Amino acid sequence: MLTVENLSVTYGPVAAVRGISFSCAEGEIVTIVGANGAGKSSALLAIAGGLRSGVSGTVTVNGAALLTLPPETRVARGLALVPERRRILASLTVRENLQVATASRKDKPAAHRDIRDLMDRFPILAARASGPAGLLSGGEQQQLAIARALIAKPSILLLDEPSLGLAPKVIDEIFALLDELRRDGIGVVLVEQNARRAAAIADRALLLRQGSITAEEDHDHVGALDAYFGLSPHTEES
Ligand code: ATP
Repeated sequence: MLTVENLSVTYGPVAAVRGISFSCAEGEIVTIVGANGAGKSSALLAIAGGLRSGVSGTVTVNGAALLTLPPETRVARGLALVPERRRILASLTVRENLQVATASRKDKPAAHRDIRDLMDRFPILAARASGPAGLLSGGEQQQLAIARALIAKPSILLLDEPSLGLAPKVIDEIFALLDELRRDGIGVVLVEQNARRAAAIADRALLLRQGSITAEEDHDHVGALDAYFGLSPHTEES
């Protein structure tokens, strides 16, 4: 269980996140939606350990407080981030991208086994294992970014805008994958501008506005968020 309490992020005089609180259990998808600049990425980065200063509040995974720990220790405690724009290493092969994620592990045979297991799970990555990751399509790169995060066997996966730049059909595939991860018992925190799609898959949706959570709806009521966005029921976001 990820618990976030009173999390704030400031960049100098700019207050990006203002005391937000939420939780995400294993086997649950919680989405944080909001407009550009609402503070979504800042919140995720703060939780994952990607910000060096300006962060306050409490973040725990299964009761262990994480906010003072470096990112790699947070990963070891079960928290993994799939960053915005995927951040894959384009000139390395697909396999090397996964190997980089296991570089610090001492149990090399187990690390190799974990990579093999991921290749089984993501056949497209197995098929392209020896090719440069930069030649993968956007959807395949997103799969690689998710596979890379899964290597650490997280109990909570944080994803920043996985739908960014992808065609609707490819977004469907990525969201189907998130649904699978939920069924595997992983807790998923999904940051999205694509509010409608994210809310459709999520167990709960939080609306972030200017750094504050201004609405929270469970799955049966996420349609209510449309009102906040001014979307008509038939508006399709791309
Ligand atoms: P987007 O969808 O555009 O990524 P977001 O909801 O993820 O938006 P953030 O990127 O977290 O929002 O930005 C929140 C606020 O913090 C914005 O006002 C932004 O300009 C500011 N901000 C973000 N990163 C920095 C930074 N490194 N230095 C200064 N201000 C920043």
